[in-house]
Amino acid sequence: MPHPPLPGIPAWLWPRAAAGPGRLLMLDYDGTLAPFQLDRDKAFPHPRSIALVRQIGEGRRTSLAVVSGRPIEALDRLLGPLPAAWLVGEHGWESRSPDGQLVLHPLAEPAGRALREAAARLVERGWGHCLEAKRTALMVHTRAFSARKASEVEAECDRIWRERALSPQLRRARVDGGLELRARGHDKGTAVSELVGLSEPGTLAVYLGDDETDEDAFAAVRESGLGIRVGDRPRPSLALGRLESWDEVAEFLERWRDEVERSAAGAGSNS
Ligand SMILES: [Mg+2]
Repeated sequence: MPHPPLPGIPAWLWPRAAAGPGRLLMLDYDGTLAPFQLDRDKAFPHPRSIALVRQIGEGRRTSLAVVSGRPIEALDRLLGPLPAAWLVGEHGWESRSPDGQLVLHPLAEPAGRALREAAARLVERGWGHCLEAKRTALMVHTRAFSARKASEVEAECDRIWRERALSPQLRRARVDGGLELRARGHDKGTAVSELVGLSEPGTLAVYLGDDETDEDAFAAVRESGLGIRVGDRPRPSLALGRLESWDEVAEFLERWRDEVERSAAGAGSNS
């Protein structure tokens, strides 16, 4: 059966991915592989997409990575076994290779202290119930609120953080579903650069993501391939490609399996 058209994907991608010396396919988790859920602990991957990711991984022609702001242990629980893939958590502050080697980049004490202080300020003011404290970031979750209330809560938490000058070691951003305060030093862009650096020269790198934090990755991937933004709301982006929805992500992965992975079966392995 022919694949449905994906108008946001440049046509050159498919033949280049199929014929090139190597392929690196990197996927953000929330909003890209997994539809958003009010209960974040139940944001499991789109069933069709995760099945295709496993098939692509088994093909061994494509190096796979899941790149997320979530810690790796949360990704493990939600993704289930994904033995052929790199997992990158906490926006690049931790990674695990397909052979199981875990790297945790240490957080400098001033940044850790600044995060603890920022968390304490929100808890003091009654916003602890919205707060997720990770090793290298804080997230104020507002997806449960109406759009108006979410915007008010984010503005209020942002104001509380800015009452005292924020440490220059921290970076804050409005993201889909909340407000985030992250340690500077590693981000999805540095994660992409590291993965590209580990790949064979000439590898085509493709990164799919939906959010503000993925823009670092879209910038980093431009030299060696293509960023693809997932979402139907127009906004400025460094991504050159676009998929409108989670269903289109599944279509993209199916086409990758059929045209990139399978079409060149027997042409060699990049493993
Ligand atoms: Mg996302």
